[in-house]
Amino acid sequence: MSEPQPGRVALITGANRGIGKEVARQLAQRGLTVLVGARDSKRGEVAAVELSGDGEARAVTIDVTSLRSVKAAAAWIETTFGRLDVLVNNAGVLLELDFPKPSQVSLDRVRETFETNTFGPITVMQVMLPLLHRSPAGRIVNVTSRQASLSMAGDPDGPGLQLLAYNSSKAGLNAATLQFARELRDSRIKVNLADPMHCATDINGHSGDRPASEGARIVVELALIGDDGPSGAFLSGDGAVPW
Ligand code: NAP
Repeated sequence: MSEPQPGRVALITGANRGIGKEVARQLAQRGLTVLVGARDSKRGEVAAVELSGDGEARAVTIDVTSLRSVKAAAAWIETTFGRLDVLVNNAGVLLELDFPKPSQVSLDRVRETFETNTFGPITVMQVMLPLLHRSPAGRIVNVTSRQASLSMAGDPDGPGLQLLAYNSSKAGLNAATLQFARELRDSRIKVNLADPMHCATDINGHSGDRPASEGARIVVELALIGDDGPSGAFLSGDGAVPW
């Protein structure tokens, strides 16, 4: 575990419940000021009040599918803190558990999934980058899934679930993350991918085999990684995930 990090400011999207809330809790416990991102301001306030028991927590309204909302959040962060040290792109949706075959999933659902899981984090990264450049050690963690692994999906006998929109949208997020890591390789910002593994949360009807707090650990580790740590890595609690 890294040293306590007072004074550092972290934004976590989709932090009003599930893994995002546990990431915010663990970062607050490490001394960071956590900005509890939520698309619904009331849900964000409720979570921020709960997390205040763990450290410094403030609610921020941010819908990752809305450029206007993301820009408004960035303007507030700039006015209030002047910079951002950690960005965790955690907000995500899974909208097709009831459609097991790719041929059955409507294009509308595929588009909606990409809006949140892929275009959302790209938007947030683009808008927040000027604030992250003002940090002495900016960190971006994009929360993805091993379901996005192309090599695992390509194994016909592999364990992966067949999820057209979700898996493809997270694979797009992985590809985009590598592009940002490449652009930022000579900067002080590191950009990595975290796979929390199968956690019991609302997204999967609580079918996961571990609590969200356990899945949050790899996200937190990458959010606090030192200057000698990787950028462009795809890691879970079990180590590197195959691309
Ligand atoms: P969750 O409990 O369903 O939480 C999802 C969060 O994302 C909620 O806070 C939700 O807000 C938010 N969100 C959805 N759309 C949004 C938008 N447009 N703008 C802002 N926030 C939005 O799911 P979770 O399991 O914690 O998932 C968190 C992340 O982990 C996701 O990216 C997911 O793909 C990833 N992941 C989860 C697992 C797992 O087993 N659970 C495994 C691998 C990866 P509302 O409350 O307003 O809906």
